Amino acid sequence: MASPEPPRITVVGSINMDVSARTPSLPAPGETVAGTDLVLGRGGKGANQAVAAARAGGRVRFVGAVGDDAFAPDLRASLRTEGVDVATLRTAPGASGVAVVTVDDAAENTIVVVAGANDALTELGADDVAAIEGADVLLLQLEIPVPTVVAAAEAARRGGTTVFLNPSPVRPVPDALLDAVDVLVVNESEHHALGDAVDRTPHVVTTLGARGARHRGPDGAVVEVPAPRVRAVDTTGAGDAFTGALAVAWRDGPEAALRRAVVGGALATTRSGIAAPTAADIDAAAGEL
Ligand code: ADP
Repeated sequence: MASPEPPRITVVGSINMDVSARTPSLPAPGETVAGTDLVLGRGGKGANQAVAAARAGGRVRFVGAVGDDAFAPDLRASLRTEGVDVATLRTAPGASGVAVVTVDDAAENTIVVVAGANDALTELGADDVAAIEGADVLLLQLEIPVPTVVAAAEAARRGGTTVFLNPSPVRPVPDALLDAVDVLVVNESEHHALGDAVDRTPHVVTTLGARGARHRGPDGAVVEVPAPRVRAVDTTGAGDAFTGALAVAWRDGPEAALRRAVVGGALATTRSGIAAPTAADIDAAAGEL
């Protein structure tokens, strides 16, 4: 079979540096504790989903903002290395988005997220709109100002681009946004938080952790796809790997896309860090699992 052009995917979203330290116990207010290791990880749901979609075979553009600090060149390079087009990644004065994470020996954690430059993404320029209108799929999350998310979804609608929204972190979602979404991708807690509002969108994809994922289509028909059984070591980023793979495979139809996305999500749990698998990894595992 001749391989078709890769799907064009534009992400409008967040990019962060995750700074994590491990400590035997989390510090109490006013307390100083010794950390055992420090890990820098490239994160932000927007960037993670962009990388996941690129690895899964999409031609990906990223619309977002980094700061003018020491983290910015690294963040920009981390997308470029993955083949993500960063022509529409702007530089805003001040800090890049940063998540400061502490993890203790019982795997309890604390996380402080400083939105930094992500909060500066208050307007879309002509190049951003062109990147949205020229894509097959627009991928959105809620880690940037919500009015920008709404503007991106509306631009996509005008361009005939399919709009995916992963409404994370959980926060109020305006009806105007849900009404411009084609595919809502939620985990069970996000689904619960949105309640009946999920019914405003034609397609709802609910991820069910180790149980897989469910699709509800415009006709109300529900299909559930089980997750492959894997030895999960770190489920961070599983949802982003799932969403990236789903967006790339969407043109094959919802059920085929879910079958591929559950493999992407499962493989991501077998590794730590930004662990989204490549298309070749997914192909190989889909034959085996
Ligand atoms: P989130 O990480 O966003 O809360 P989920 O926990 O539902 O979302 O995981 C997203 C997807 O990742 C699932 O639909 C599934 O495909 C895959 N996944 C997550 N955990 C596991 C697991 N333990 N085994 C296999 N697949 C998993």
